[in-house]
Amino acid sequence: MTKAFPIVISGPSGVGKTTLVNGIIARDPQLRESVSATTRPPRDGEVEGESYVFVSDKQFDKLKRGKLIEWAEVHDHLYGTPREFVEGELAKGLDVVLNIDVQGGASVKKCFPEAVLIFILPPSFKVLDGRVRGRGTDYAKEIKKRMKNARREVTFAPAYDYIVVNDQMEDAVSALRAIIESERRRQTRYPEDYFDRFGR
Ligand code: ADP
Ligand code: 5GP
Repeated sequence: MTKAFPIVISGPSGVGKTTLVNGIIARDPQLRESVSATTRPPRDGEVEGESYVFVSDKQFDKLKRGKLIEWAEVHDHLYGTPREFVEGELAKGLDVVLNIDVQGGASVKKCFPEAVLIFILPPSFKVLDGRVRGRGTDYAKEIKKRMKNARREVTFAPAYDYIVVNDQMEDAVSALRAIIESERRRQTRYPEDYFDRFGR
């Protein structure tokens, strides 16, 4: 009944964004996940159209002409958010989760001022390093690049509406769910005429 909104989830590589997004999507029928397009090659186990839509540089160039809400270069690859899906789901009244980087977060806030921006922090850089390595899907060079970028990415956390530390996964999922449930009840998300019934 209240207006749907985009939910941006950002944070350094390996902090647990994908895991947490899967956790909240599985528990909330009113949530949809946006699947980005990327020029990054698929990791082992990633499913085309589920994790990402994997495209060539040339295909990405074409998407840039109107098909993306935002796009950015992250860790030397291109990533972009599909316009039609996001706008379509919001129009249906479903809240859309975007797992995107800090550049994407800033762009989305500009196009959708009603968006909620949540930054995921690790308990420490040591734990973060362990998670990136533990995932076991990236080459050493890629891991080094991601850990270096992590230091810069966390400096953007204060620009976000909420900060969630992903220590115990279940606690972090609960915190995300609490934020979303509260945001759905924000006064500004109710339709203008909702209050008429109370004789305003
Ligand atoms: P991201 O999407 O932010 O790059 P992932 O969701 O792929 O991160 O998580 C990176 C690794 O950390 C995965 O192996 C995942 O299982 C693990 N992980 C995620 N959250 C936790 C947590 N709270 N405690 C321990 N390990 C976690
Ligand atoms: P990964 O290669 O680990 O899946 O993702 C690398 C980074 O790209 C992550 O920070 C992720 O949030 C970000 N990302 C994924 N999709 C998009 C997108 O569509 N737009 C932007 N700006 N960043 C994205």
